Amino acid sequence: MRPPRPLAPAIAAAVAAAVALAACGGVHGGPGGSGAGDPYFPKAGNGGYDVTHYDLALAYDPDGHRLTGTATLTARATEDLSAFHLDLLGLKVEKVEVGGRGARFHHAGQELTVRPPGELRAGAEFRVRVRYSGRPITVTDPDGSKEGWLRTADGALALGQPTGSMTWFPGNHHPSDKASYDLSMTVPEGLRVVSNGEPRGERTAAGRTTYAWRTTEPMASYLATVAIGKWEYRRSRTGDGLPVYTAADPEQARDSRAVLRRIGEVVAWARDAFGPYPFSSVGAIVDRPADVGYALETQNRPVFPGAPDLVLLVHELAHQWYGDSVSPESWRDMWLNEGFATYAEWLWQEDHGGDTAEETFDALYAGRYFAGAEANASIWAFPPADPPDAAHLSAAPVYQRGAMVLHKIRQRVGDAAFRSLLRGWSAAHRHGNADTDDFTAYVEERAPDQDFSVVWKDWLYGDGKPERP
Ligand SMILES: [Zn+2]
Repeated sequence: MRPPRPLAPAIAAAVAAAVALAACGGVHGGPGGSGAGDPYFPKAGNGGYDVTHYDLALAYDPDGHRLTGTATLTARATEDLSAFHLDLLGLKVEKVEVGGRGARFHHAGQELTVRPPGELRAGAEFRVRVRYSGRPITVTDPDGSKEGWLRTADGALALGQPTGSMTWFPGNHHPSDKASYDLSMTVPEGLRVVSNGEPRGERTAAGRTTYAWRTTEPMASYLATVAIGKWEYRRSRTGDGLPVYTAADPEQARDSRAVLRRIGEVVAWARDAFGPYPFSSVGAIVDRPADVGYALETQNRPVFPGAPDLVLLVHELAHQWYGDSVSPESWRDMWLNEGFATYAEWLWQEDHGGDTAEETFDALYAGRYFAGAEANASIWAFPPADPPDAAHLSAAPVYQRGAMVLHKIRQRVGDAAFRSLLRGWSAAHRHGNADTDDFTAYVEERAPDQDFSVVWKDWLYGDGKPERP
């Protein structure tokens, strides 16, 4: 189920414009929606089209803090469109073209409304090019964390969960619309650019270097990153040949080397646990803790605030399966990301001589997992599948209690069937999207002789602490 789309003022204007156009003949389509219908971020993403590819040609000068860019989006109309929206926040749009012809546009807040020179028919592929520039901004999320464009000691770092990617490129910024990417970023010579996907070359001219990266597997825009700085940059391969690209801030490089060398070992373990690795390369980006406050599972290459410990590396790499390959249908499904990545930590510990998942579950239920009583109580604040608001999408119930839901399933079906279910879920929605209903239906289908109604009612959707562990 999705809530109805809100009718924002910008849409109302576009509706009026479409009606006016229709009056002078031939136009059947209306404007696409200004939001994708997300229950927590209603204006994020847009309606009426699917982006298949982003081609971002950007330049950034850290000293002047100025970004200039041309974004070319290839998209397919999903309905007849007289106008459509893109999300872009805080930068100035200079020119928009659709199909190589100049298009009228209106930019207010995060909504860039584009009126193509001719109507776009449902099913038609179209290309929209946006030229823009300005000083990219940092966004403070409802939960107080910083995302968007973060200026760092030696450059910049872009992080986009949940909506920050609209601060550096125009797009359909909702996880339900995944696409491939080409990115080129030009920076002053001496700085290096690291992004998602695989490197496609670098070239220096007139004191500036351009780095190109390509992401061929579908990516939700919140997982896009670009990291500009004086990185210690390393290329290697895992034991079975998967390319590894890592970048560590020079201040963090020494402390990071040992843990980053274990990426291949973690991926090999995770392949056994979760199924084939979904992407063409792996890696990590380690910046200074003063420049970034949290880790994020940016696709192929998670970002860390300083050298990570091994369990945090496991968590972010597990997200490559759960979150990056199988992405949430909306932000309500965040527990499908975090419950799985948290459970991956438990499984890693269980498989490596630490606490079993059962022991971790028991410690959480008994209120002796965290150091303080308040932290232990916090996991019961709300049901994992229904956070009360956008400020609580990254709170403990989504993580620990989400993982406890998975453990309840394991208790019902047994170890072997549970392990098979973890692999099956990542295969069933590989490179796609899924919501909580998809998940519960999948579990019931895989274990038809089991009754999960209490697990769903008490653990997934229920308020407060379930009466029995
Ligand atoms: Zn996570």
